[in-house]
Amino acid sequence: MKIILAKDAGYCFGVREAVKKAYHEAEDHGEVYMLGHIVHNENVVKNLEKSGTKVVESLKNVPSDKPVLFRAHGTAPEVWDSAKNKKLNIIDATCPLVTEIHNEIKQLDEEGRQTIIIGDHGHDEVIGIASQVKNPIILSTVDEAKKLKKMKSAGVVTQSTQMIENVQNIINELMIKVFDLRFVNTICYPTRRNHEQIKSLALKCELMIVIGSFTSANSKRLTQLALERNPRSHQVTCGEDINEEWFKNVNVVGISAGASTPDSIINEVTEKIRKIGNVLKEELVYE
Ligand code: SF4
Repeated sequence: MKIILAKDAGYCFGVREAVKKAYHEAEDHGEVYMLGHIVHNENVVKNLEKSGTKVVESLKNVPSDKPVLFRAHGTAPEVWDSAKNKKLNIIDATCPLVTEIHNEIKQLDEEGRQTIIIGDHGHDEVIGIASQVKNPIILSTVDEAKKLKKMKSAGVVTQSTQMIENVQNIINELMIKVFDLRFVNTICYPTRRNHEQIKSLALKCELMIVIGSFTSANSKRLTQLALERNPRSHQVTCGEDINEEWFKNVNVVGISAGASTPDSIINEVTEKIRKIGNVLKEELVYE
């Protein structure tokens, strides 16, 4: 059996840096505080907790002598101001590509356009983008776009991990509704690469395994992309979820993983599949 592992499976550089900073600060200060989880993955969260990271609901719960880490997917300006006023030691782990989205939406707002964000309602990154401007519209589906009234001018950005197909469908609808429409494609390049790779792997492999937590929108999107092209696609959170039955009469298995899946879990799942299929070292390739 041959295994093809997607080249960009797993942590994107934004999440990798944020996790690295969290471990580093926890080691230096004994504890580091975060408003919400750094990545949507239960295993990563557990290991981070063991090393001294604490998740709190509000800045009120951060001791004045401990650092607070602002996560990769961005933090609202009010929270920044409040942390500065409290003179907290802020560790900024905002991904530079998320900062770019913040700058783009502010620019569209300055141009006097109605700002629109294509993204998941309630997602931390979308909340952070929305907090940069007054009264943005958030659209997650084409049906929501259909309900909009006609408008003179609008500017659109996307959540970094959106699927291009969903964005295209919504933009098509907005072209009917908006006279002067400006669209800035802010899907980040690690997401684009990850999505392109899984689309091609799902077509060429007999079986697809997507590794990621079911709490991660990004991992679920990868599974959806795989399933649309290959019904023999399964999402697993770790090696234990692997079912040997899936591999019967399979010659080529594709593996990918969401941006919040750590290397250790990718390795664990890959090793388990290697054992099931007696896969030789040279039969494990990266594409
Ligand atoms: S998904 Fe993209 S924008 Fe978000 S943290 Fe990763 S690299 Fe940055």
